[in-house]
Amino acid sequence: MCYAIPGNVKSITGNLITVDYFGEERKARNDFYDLRVGDYVYAQGGFVVEKIDEKLAEEILDSWKEMFFELKKTDVRLSKLHNDKPNVEKSFLRIIDRAIYGKSISHEEALRLLLSENPDEIDVLHKSANFIRQKFLDNSCCVHGIIEFSNMCDCQCAYCGINSDNSALKRFSLNTGEILKVVEDAVNRFGFKGIVLQSGESPSYSSENILDLIKKIRENYPVFIFLSVGEREEEFYRKAFDAGAKAVLFRFETSDSDLYSKLHPHSSLNERTGYLELFKEIGYIIASGSLIGLPGQNAESVINDFMFAKNLGCDMYSFGPFIPHPNSPLSRHSAPDAEYVLKALSVLRLIDPYGKILVTTALESINPKTRQQALMGGANSIMLNLTPKDYVGSYDIYPNRAAVDVSVADQIADALQLLKSIGRAPTDLGI
Ligand code: SF4
Repeated sequence: MCYAIPGNVKSITGNLITVDYFGEERKARNDFYDLRVGDYVYAQGGFVVEKIDEKLAEEILDSWKEMFFELKKTDVRLSKLHNDKPNVEKSFLRIIDRAIYGKSISHEEALRLLLSENPDEIDVLHKSANFIRQKFLDNSCCVHGIIEFSNMCDCQCAYCGINSDNSALKRFSLNTGEILKVVEDAVNRFGFKGIVLQSGESPSYSSENILDLIKKIRENYPVFIFLSVGEREEEFYRKAFDAGAKAVLFRFETSDSDLYSKLHPHSSLNERTGYLELFKEIGYIIASGSLIGLPGQNAESVINDFMFAKNLGCDMYSFGPFIPHPNSPLSRHSAPDAEYVLKALSVLRLIDPYGKILVTTALESINPKTRQQALMGGANSIMLNLTPKDYVGSYDIYPNRAAVDVSVADQIADALQLLKSIGRAPTDLGI
């Protein structure tokens, strides 16, 4: 994983470079710049997003050096394993041990972990997940900013508050100029190095408009672009990659094809999976996942979803709780307990020691304490909301979303304070 501090280019092979951060080396792909060994770059998500002046880079590195090592020390201290709980079955510990040594765990073993109701076992699970995160991924934590630029949507996903049947919702679309203004603030004022452009799925925001937006962002701002704009033509996704978007956030929501069809009358799981395979073939970084706690889902389905996402080769996982929206067909159902979702995320960490795991805003919306709990239980990525305050309330995918009334500056301050206290280096906001 990259840091949001300048890295020094150590070697170049075609468009693949090795970048050094205070002695740690990372690989990154360079699609945009003429680079030589010794140059300084910012890399995000495995891609070079900016080449920077040597003197400036050395000044920045000088100011961060002490903090870089201090954070690592704190993280190592807080992720030590203390499996000193008395009431843990040996069979449970054997599964944990396999994962700690980087061995894969089976569906049955993962299910055993998720079904545990024993507080001692659950404690060991969370601590082991955090240990594995530290061991395999170190202390970097992605902090992307998300811009929800349109809530127009033609789909009828049964769990979603902005589905086309919700006639009570005030619809909006930001124009290119308004989005660029948000990006400018995000990059130049707040220092974001990675942003997510998200919308509902509607031709009213044309693929040409989105391509134009990506080009304008890349021409003016050195930032890593994630797209979360749903099912669009293959040609669009190929052109978007060439224009500078290098990652997609595209969830499959459930790997149970019958349940999928019930929840998505407009599409099938096969079509959805086809998109994820296409993105992989094009070269996108992929973030995907499902809803935990959907009506009709059981613990086995949750593990199926984790295994499905791992087999798809996801780089980042976005698994969040189902939260019923009052104006959706699933309004009578309930959200899962936050503790169950936290336990599931820890199991996911044991299933895949290397993938980034996002603490979703939906989980934080059930209980704000879950951000820290999830980060201490195997997760290593968070998302801050950059959508302008006049519109963010209308991006009403589920009720009572966390942080909609908190300014960007305060969201950043809260995130940095938390990450510093637990020894994590925010990769998209400096270090
Ligand atoms: S989940 Fe996405 S595609 Fe489905 S209704 Fe909501 S915004 Fe539209």
